[in-house]
Amino acid sequence: MQIGFIGLGKMGAGMARNLSVRFPVKVYDTRPEAVQELVEAGARAAGSAAEAAEGADIVVTMLPGPQEIESVMLQEGGAAAALGTGAIWIDASSSSLDAMEQVKKAYPDAGWTALDAPVTGGVPGASAGTLQFFVGGERRDYDRAFDVLSTMGDPKRIVHVGGQGTGYTVKLCLNLGFFLHVIAGAEVLALGTKAGVDLGVLHEALTHSGASSAFLENDAAQSLFAGDYKEYFRLALVLKDIRLAVDLGRSVGVPLEVSALVEQIHRRALLTYGDGGQLLAVRQLEETAGVSLRHTGS
Ligand code: NAD
Repeated sequence: MQIGFIGLGKMGAGMARNLSVRFPVKVYDTRPEAVQELVEAGARAAGSAAEAAEGADIVVTMLPGPQEIESVMLQEGGAAAALGTGAIWIDASSSSLDAMEQVKKAYPDAGWTALDAPVTGGVPGASAGTLQFFVGGERRDYDRAFDVLSTMGDPKRIVHVGGQGTGYTVKLCLNLGFFLHVIAGAEVLALGTKAGVDLGVLHEALTHSGASSAFLENDAAQSLFAGDYKEYFRLALVLKDIRLAVDLGRSVGVPLEVSALVEQIHRRALLTYGDGGQLLAVRQLEETAGVSLRHTGS
């Protein structure tokens, strides 16, 4: 089984490294230093996206979003033209069905197929090979790709969601929900703290109430209270995910009023601090309200 892997960023580097332990892998990224690191880990360098796809049974893309996917798959040196009959293109990026359809439309008679297979688990999960995958596409392609997916992820958490695009949809729902909870959680923490309640007592009360969330239970306690705004997922990707979710709402006819507002809150943080950690909107609220959400534990 020959693998092509394109996009060796924070997530892709760990995923490609795990694959290269079990399979011959050809890797490509626009950053030569990222390719070099993988070569040192046992992969072969490809000079273009097309070269990574040539002769591969499975090509995995792990790119920022729709724009980069269309560029990698369709533009000069594009991988789609190099995919052979019977090959499977797995897009593990958090993206949209639109981009995948554009690529498929450009090659209507191609003998290859595609799976949308975005992930959760972050950089630690990518390095450890314990990612969760949400997979959209034909069941037979999911079955054929399972061995490769389970080399990057936890076999018990590789879910065949349904038809093409349903994997992307689940991922967008998860991220939209999380980034709504970040703002909701930050607002109540800032409110209670500024009004004079000890942050530890407030946090304890919230996490044992109907107002709790995974953000409050995990991310606030483990990262935010220590001043860690979680750099491994950058704000530009947060904005991309919320935008894609709001676009999906527009296209299927679901009003996403709170989400549209929350998108602007995260955008303001991106404009203020640059493309840093995913929780920087909380820092902005802390600075605006004059509160510090630092806590060393009970
Ligand atoms: P990243 O920005 O660290 O990596 C993206 C990589 O793609 C970079 O190495 C970049 O050089 C490369 N790239 C960009 N354009 C390219 C092109 N035209 N040709 C070849 N390579 C190109 O991003 P990431 O954090 O690894 O995230 C990748 C995807 O995974 C995104 O869709 C993101 O939303 C999703 N995701 C990220 C996390 C996380 O915790 N970071 C978690 C789950 C899902």
